[in-house]
Amino acid sequence: MKEWHQLLHLSREMADMISAAEKEAFTVHKEIDMRTSFNQVRVLETFRQVRLGEEDFSSTTGYGYNDTGRDKLESLYALIFGGEKALVRPQLVSGTHAISCCLFGLLRPGDKVLAVTGTPYDTLHKVIGRKGDADRGTLQDFGIGFQTVDLVDDMANKDENAIAAKLDPYLDDEKIRLIYIQRSRGYSLRRALTLDALRSLMEMIKGAFPGRVVFVDNCYGEFVETQEPLHAGADLLAGSLIKNPGGGLAPSGGYVVGKAELVELVASRLTAPGLGSALGPTLGTNRPLIQGLFLAPHFVGEALKSAVFAASLFTSLGFKVYPHYDENRGDIVQAVILGSREALEKFCQTIQAYSPVDSHALPIAGEVPGYEREIIMAAGTFVQGSSLELSADAPMVEPYAVYLQGGLIYPHARAAISAAAAILIQK
Ligand SMILES: *Cc1c(COP(=O)(O)O)cnc(C)c1O
Repeated sequence: MKEWHQLLHLSREMADMISAAEKEAFTVHKEIDMRTSFNQVRVLETFRQVRLGEEDFSSTTGYGYNDTGRDKLESLYALIFGGEKALVRPQLVSGTHAISCCLFGLLRPGDKVLAVTGTPYDTLHKVIGRKGDADRGTLQDFGIGFQTVDLVDDMANKDENAIAAKLDPYLDDEKIRLIYIQRSRGYSLRRALTLDALRSLMEMIKGAFPGRVVFVDNCYGEFVETQEPLHAGADLLAGSLIKNPGGGLAPSGGYVVGKAELVELVASRLTAPGLGSALGPTLGTNRPLIQGLFLAPHFVGEALKSAVFAASLFTSLGFKVYPHYDENRGDIVQAVILGSREALEKFCQTIQAYSPVDSHALPIAGEVPGYEREIIMAAGTFVQGSSLELSADAPMVEPYAVYLQGGLIYPHARAAISAAAAILIQK
């Protein structure tokens, strides 16, 4: 029988490097399998607990009253993520929308946000707004302040003095109502926060800013570890269903989970005051959202294995990668420094070419709604823009790092990543 790399016409040398990378990744892959097993059973237990039945796959239209499937789905999210209540809706059009609903739902004019993990993800910049940015409906426009400190490296170095010095100017500010934490790296080379890091960060924050809402942007973090940020003490989480927790099946949607009163305030922002979470037709999405959640631990495991393989292979080819193949991970994102615009384009174009959908399309950098920088995106995915499916994207800026994530099926991701590596070292 032929081997898979022969089908792709990869050279003998490349095939040897792939084998070596897989050998190096073996132990880490086994650890991922163990976490996947644990998470799969953890999820199964909640499905048994809510007594999911086939009747819950039917769904509602119109106002969406009495949607038992939606209620079960939201109970599942609350139980799995460790919250009192969840809002899981196809009407949340993206992760940015879910996060934006949280901020506008909880904050009032005069309030301030303190982000402690540096500048938030690109698409949040337009939600926050800038001074003088009137009449756009941004936080700024409503008189809500947003301040940023970056404690990520100090957390990793356990540098308590540095952290105390950075937080000191904000300690007496009673207007700070919400502490904003981003778990994933976003388009930056900072670390993603592990659960351990989140736990100590949360302890510090709760001590320094008692009574404030601790919010976590959980995008790309779900099921990477065996607990979630609410288990580490956060009050509210939000994320996207076309990333980890949708398990590749969710056609759209976002989630918010945490303390019941906070989630209800967010629901009133998504719908309207007085309507809150009681309204919201599911329009046929109950089955894929529920089944996707059940499959999510497995597919996150496949994505993590793909990231670890990529880290190992690209390191052996002389590229800098973040994180290293054997580093503890807090998200599914793998950054690889490619060093030039051409290499970044080639990488994304090759990932696209080895995708099941739109393999004939050629990604080029350009404007994307919500982003201020020029972005290149490869996503040959069944659900548009889904990034639990294999995808690669990046802002077109120095040092030309690509952010690779997803891979519902490890052998697919391994093939595409290997093809991209082969093209990059050809020259
Ligand atoms: C993806 C992502 C978001 C939200 O992005 P959407 O494309 O709107 O779903 C927010 N924060 C982080 C860290 C992300 O990775």
